[in-house]
Amino acid sequence: MDSTARATLTPLRDLEPERLRRMREIALVATDVDGTLTRSGKLESAAVAAIRALVDAGVAVWPVSGRPAGEVMGLCRYLPGVVRGLAENGLLEVIPDRVPRWLGKPTDKARLRRVGELLNAEHGAGLEVVADDFCRLGDLAFERAGRGEDELLRLRAAAEAAGVHLIWSNVHVHLAEAIPDKGAAVLQLAGEVGIDPARIATVGDAPNDAGLFVGGRFGLTVGTADVGHQRAYFPSLPDVITGEREAAGFIELAEAILAARRG
Ligand SMILES: [Mg+2]
Repeated sequence: MDSTARATLTPLRDLEPERLRRMREIALVATDVDGTLTRSGKLESAAVAAIRALVDAGVAVWPVSGRPAGEVMGLCRYLPGVVRGLAENGLLEVIPDRVPRWLGKPTDKARLRRVGELLNAEHGAGLEVVADDFCRLGDLAFERAGRGEDELLRLRAAAEAAGVHLIWSNVHVHLAEAIPDKGAAVLQLAGEVGIDPARIATVGDAPNDAGLFVGGRFGLTVGTADVGHQRAYFPSLPDVITGEREAAGFIELAEAILAARRG
């Protein structure tokens, strides 16, 4: 049965005892940022404390964000114990005081811009580039500005006819050369630094995290409670969902990992 057709999502607290015990083996938590580490758009002290506690217990934490390389660099610089992150939905590895590194072929941002201009000129798109574009190395993002899905589907078809992908979040519209896959980026980087994917837990809240939830990739995939009502938009669903939303869900996962290690 397709995973999206599952009747229920398993709560994290109902994970089988053997899998709960195996959470002690988790060596890395790859976490989305907006809506997963944040609550109502802000990073609060409880989430920072949960990151600190994981790192102190020997569990690495990698932010994996759709935000620009420049913003993720600031995040990695200031979050306690965090030494690297993934930006722009997995296009780049970011380590403070190093030039961001492409995990695949660099995108041709000028080409993406030209497609954006074509959508505006020939399809009445009215797209406006986001203000933080100067921090984005490979991703081209526009304000979604309340566009509905019918309009986005129309623009997606026009973008695809011009040879690029158009995707959206609740706030942005992106033009991309490949469909973003945060999970593939985490796997690539984990392979490079020698972390067994079976020892990785991933956590996210929204459809742009679907790559983090692909079955068979990671030891444990976790959605925040927010995934429940968006399930129709996920090509892959997580193994479990937390009982809490947003950052409280991340904290719930952190506490479960720490409890298993104390076990
Ligand atoms: Mg998110």
